[in-house]
Amino acid sequence: FQSQPRAGRHFLQIPGPTNVPDRVLRALDNPTMDHRGPDFGILGSRILAKLQPVFGTTQPVIIFPASGTGAWEAALVNTLSPGDRVLMCETGWFAHLWEEMAGRLGILSELIATDWRRGADVAAIEARLRADTGHTLKAVCVVHNETSTGATSRVDEVRRAIDAAGHPALLLVDTISSLGSIAVQHDAWGVDVTVSGSQKGLMLPPGLSFNAVSKKALAAAETAGCARSFWDWRPMLAANATGYFPYTPATNMLYALDTALDMLNEEGLDNVFARHDRHAEATRRAVRAWGLEVQCEDPRHYSSALTAVRVPEGTSADGLRSTILQKFNMSLGNGLGQLKDRVFRIGHLGDFSDLALMGTLSGVEMGLRAAGVPHKDEGVRAAMDYLAGNA
Ligand code: PLP
Repeated sequence: FQSQPRAGRHFLQIPGPTNVPDRVLRALDNPTMDHRGPDFGILGSRILAKLQPVFGTTQPVIIFPASGTGAWEAALVNTLSPGDRVLMCETGWFAHLWEEMAGRLGILSELIATDWRRGADVAAIEARLRADTGHTLKAVCVVHNETSTGATSRVDEVRRAIDAAGHPALLLVDTISSLGSIAVQHDAWGVDVTVSGSQKGLMLPPGLSFNAVSKKALAAAETAGCARSFWDWRPMLAANATGYFPYTPATNMLYALDTALDMLNEEGLDNVFARHDRHAEATRRAVRAWGLEVQCEDPRHYSSALTAVRVPEGTSADGLRSTILQKFNMSLGNGLGQLKDRVFRIGHLGDFSDLALMGTLSGVEMGLRAAGVPHKDEGVRAAMDYLAGNA
């Protein structure tokens, strides 16, 4: 569907869903198979094994036919009981939504606030856990890459803070907009549940989501008191042992996942992450050269998946996005929650190249001019100079 016929490809530069590579689209376009037949178990087992390195784990990864929100819920209901207390960091809109969900499930959250311009406050997490001598907090929940602000929290440091406090809380981490674009180390970071989704770094359409689960999380699942059925890990793991699922899997999405994992492996995960680091740095240079501000203020938390850009006071980020969509057929992310109309977000995650980045930044620069947003026409040049020196 397009409101008017447009020549050329739409630039889908929101921070997810991302552009789906042609090779992945072709994989989707295969005949749907018998999900209880002999061939399916081979496919299922292969995919489950190939997923593990992307999560940095040798432990099970569970696939749900659901958006990321479903995997958030699965992480909570499999490990916690109504009335349990959890510590959450309000890094932005998505952390806020996860906290709201916990509340609806009867889980009591304590919130560590931020100004939405940085990642999780590790010192505050450690201080709160040290003060919790009775170990009433059952889990710490962190959004690794906060898609609303473009800030990436240091999960390794969160782990060290939990250990330094000698606290037994589970660590639940949302990697929905980092997995496949920014390194995720489920095992090395001692994460108990890593939550993710298909439509961002994995280069798939929306529709699959994931939980990577530790032994400690599996033990918690045996006693967790939240009601669960569809999200229950136990029948999943039992069926997954032979490559099958307890209910009908999203068969064609699994073909696509199989191919997307091949593409990540062929490029090499470290190369994929380096590519995203480089595109993110080029984007930030463009933003500064335009005379605009990056929403994330802490360079240690800069996101390699997206950049949220603040517009000058008195100008509308949504007006700019709408001009760019109409004139140049490019979608950019909107400001969410308290950032509504104050930022626009440039997604540079997933299947992305130097030329795609330059097209994206050119669209922004032309849009700034067309929408009359005060800026300097120097961002594209700054990004190009950086990319040319960093081939
Ligand atoms: N968490 C983060 C960090 C996200 O970016 C998103 C979606 O953009 C979600 C959670 C929610 O996932 P979904 O919209 O797939 O349900």
